[in-house]
Amino acid sequence: MDTHDAQGRLEQRLDELLARAGHIGADLLGLHSADSDEAAVEAEADEALLGQSALLELEIAQVRGALSRLKSGDYGVCISCGADITPARLEAMPEAAQCLACAEVGGKP
Ligand SMILES: [Zn+2]
Repeated sequence: MDTHDAQGRLEQRLDELLARAGHIGADLLGLHSADSDEAAVEAEADEALLGQSALLELEIAQVRGALSRLKSGDYGVCISCGADITPARLEAMPEAAQCLACAEVGGKP
């Protein structure tokens, strides 16, 4: 498998995720006003942003994990059962840490 290609895609993905996380962080900081009506709306917006931010953090962790597995030579091997992850799966999801079977069972890494 061409791990060089995977590394390029993962690094690009990491950049995008970090940029989005940066925007969300800026939104969270910039939202607050003293007006109480607006504050309620902003609190809801904050919650949505925090949810997005949590998802982003998770994805960032997955991509970073994949990059470190590339470095250590464990990339493309399921972290749960040790089987090879299919190239098609890695193509669709370069940050995949588990083979399809383990991911479907929902086994935690
Ligand atoms: Zn597996």
